Amino acid sequence: MKNYNIAVLAGDGIGPEIIAQAIKVLDCVSKHTDIKFNFNYGYIGGAGYEKFGHPLPNETLEIVKKSDAVLFGAVGDWKYDSLARHLRPEQAILGLRKEFELFANFRPAKLYSALAHTSTLKPEIIENLDILIIRELNGDVYFGEPRGIRIASEGKFKGYREGFDTMKYSVPEVERIAHTAFQAAMKRSKKLCSIDKSNVLETSQLWREVMIDISKQYPQVELSHMYVDNAAMQLIREPNAFDVMVTGNLFGDILSDQASVLCGSIGMLPSASLNKDNFGLYEPSHGSAPDIAGKNIANPLAAILSASMMLTYSFNLVELSKAIEQAVNDCLSQGYRTLDIFSKLDDEILCSTEQMGAYVVNNLINRLNEYA
Ligand code: NAD
Repeated sequence: MKNYNIAVLAGDGIGPEIIAQAIKVLDCVSKHTDIKFNFNYGYIGGAGYEKFGHPLPNETLEIVKKSDAVLFGAVGDWKYDSLARHLRPEQAILGLRKEFELFANFRPAKLYSALAHTSTLKPEIIENLDILIIRELNGDVYFGEPRGIRIASEGKFKGYREGFDTMKYSVPEVERIAHTAFQAAMKRSKKLCSIDKSNVLETSQLWREVMIDISKQYPQVELSHMYVDNAAMQLIREPNAFDVMVTGNLFGDILSDQASVLCGSIGMLPSASLNKDNFGLYEPSHGSAPDIAGKNIANPLAAILSASMMLTYSFNLVELSKAIEQAVNDCLSQGYRTLDIFSKLDDEILCSTEQMGAYVVNNLINRLNEYA
C-alpha cells in the first residue's frame, strides 16, 4: 500500500464546495485501490485571515511542509478589498508560490466533445482542442523590485503621482522554465511555441535568447516564437495550431484565462504549479466566485481535474489520473451539467455541485473496475 499526504486548503467562496467534491473522488480512489490519500486541512486566504489574522498563516505553512502535494480551492472576496495588500486573501497564493518555488504553472485547455457547443468559437475551429499553456510563476513584473507609487521627479508629468513596477527575468529563471516546457513538449507533439514581446522589451529579448539556447538540448522539439499580441489573436483564430505554449508570468496570466473560455467555462479548467522536485499545488483556474458561493451550483470539475493532475505530476499515478478524466468525460457524455455549462438541450440534465461530484464518483467506480 502506498500512502500520500495531501494538504487541503479549500479557502473562500466556492472553494470549500468544489474541493469537497474533489475529496470525494480521491476517497473513491483510496477505497477501490491500494493507494491511500490522507488529508490535512488548513486555513488559507480570507479563511486564514479570519482564523489567524493572516491569509497564509504559519499553521497552514507547517501543514503544507509536511505534505506531498497541495489541493487548493480558491481565495478572495470583495469584503477584503479594503485590507492592506499583504493581508488580502490573494497574497496567500503568491506566498505559497514563492515559499515552495512553484515556478512552473501548467494550464491545459482541453475541450470535452460533449461541450463543443458551449464554446464561444465555432465548433469546427474548436474541435478536439487540447493545448497546454506553461506559465512562469515566480518572476516577471509581479515580483520585480522596485515597485510602488511615488511622485514623479522628472519628465513631462513631474510632480504627479505615478505607479511603477519592474519587469525582469534572469537567465537561470528562464532556463528552468524552458527545460520544463521542452520536456512537456517531448511528451506531446514535440512542438513548442514561446510567447514574448521581444520587439519591444529587453526582458523578452533575453527570454528569447535563452529559449533558443536551451532548444539545442532538445533537437527533437520544433521551437517557434510569437509576439504576445499575435498569440492572443491566433489563440482565437486557430487555437489548434498550438500544442505547448510557454511564456512569462504576466503574458501567461492573460493568455491562459483567454484559453479558458475556449473550453466553454472556466469551471472546467484545472491547473498545476510545480517546483523542480515535482512538489505541486493543484487548483482550479477560476477564483472564489463569491457571486455563486454557498448555492451548491458551482462546477466542481476543474477542482476534480486538478486532483487528477496531482496524480500524474506529483505521484506518477498516470493510469488512475486517466481514470478520473474518463469519469469526468463519462458524466458529460451522459448529459450531466452544472449551470455554467447547461444549454437547455433535450439530452442535458441540470445538476448541483454535490450531484456532479457524486456522478463522477459513480463513473469512476466503473472505470476503476476496468483497471482492477
Ligand atoms: P472568478 O473566477 O471567481 O469568477 C468569474 C466568473 O466565473 C463569475 O461569474 C463566477 O460565478 C464564474 N465562475 C468561476 N468559477 C466557477 C465555477 N467553478 N462554476 C461556475 N461558475 C464559476 O473571478 P472574479 O469574479 O474575478 O474573482 C472573484 C474573487 O476570486 C476575487 O476576490 C479574486 O481576487 C479571486 N481570485 C482568486 C483566484 C485564486 O484563488 N487562485 C484566482 C482568480 C481570482
